[in-house]
Amino acid sequence: MNETRIAPPKDVSTSRAPRVLVVEDEQALALLLSYNLEAEGYLVERVERGDDAELRLAESPPDLVILDWMLPGVSGLEICRRLRAREETRALPVIMLTARGEEAERVRGLSVGADDYVVKPFSVPELMARVRSLLRRARPERIASRLIASDIDLDRETRRVRRAGRDIHLGPTEFRLLEYLLEKPGRVFSRAQLLDAVWGLSAEIDERTVDVHVGRLRKALVRGRERDPIRTVRGAGYSFDETFGKS
Ligand code: CA
Repeated sequence: MNETRIAPPKDVSTSRAPRVLVVEDEQALALLLSYNLEAEGYLVERVERGDDAELRLAESPPDLVILDWMLPGVSGLEICRRLRAREETRALPVIMLTARGEEAERVRGLSVGADDYVVKPFSVPELMARVRSLLRRARPERIASRLIASDIDLDRETRRVRRAGRDIHLGPTEFRLLEYLLEKPGRVFSRAQLLDAVWGLSAEIDERTVDVHVGRLRKALVRGRERDPIRTVRGAGYSFDETFGKS
C-alpha cells in the first residue's frame, strides 16, 4: 500500500449520489422507474418481492424507497409499518405506489407512515419531482443549493450546468462527477473514491473509466482558451482546482 494514499472522505455518505430502492413486482414499471431515476443521476436498486425488500433494507438503508403496495411475500403496507418501527429507518423517505385510488386506502397508506402516496397509472415526471422534493427535505445540505465557481454554475434543482452564460450539456455521470468535485474544491480524490461516489460502492468498473468521463467532462466545460477547472494530480487522482477563477 502506497503511503501517499488519500484517506476516504469522512462525509462521503452525504455527498455521494442518492440511492433509491425500487420495490415493484411489475417488471415493465420497475424498469421504467429505474431508467428514469438513473437518468437523474440516482443509484438505483430493484427488488420484486416484499420479503427480499425487507432483507435488502436491513442490510443498508437507501436514501429513499419507492414501494409498491401489492407485492408477493410481504405487502408494501407492512414493509412501511416495519420501517417506521425501526430506529434506523424511522425517517427514511417512502413513496407508496398503488393501483387503488380510494380515499380510505390513501389514508391507510399515510397512516402507516408513507411520506407520499402515488396512484397508478401516474406520470413519471411527476413522480421524479416528488422524489427530488422528498430527498431535498431529507438531506437539505445535499440538494438545496447551487454550486458556483467563477463562471461555472451548477444547479442541482434543474440539473443544469452553465459556463460563462452558455449551457453545458452533460450526461448524468459527468454531471455527478462535476457536482462531487465542486462540493470540495481543492480536495484530491483518487479514482477509487470517485468510482465509489459517482458510480456506487458496488460498481465493478475499471478505474480508467474515471479518466474517460473526466475527459468528457473537460471537453464539455472548456471551450477555446478557457481555463480547465479540473486538475489531474499525478499518482493521486483529480480535484476541482481551488484557484480556479481566483488568479
Ligand atoms: Ca404490485
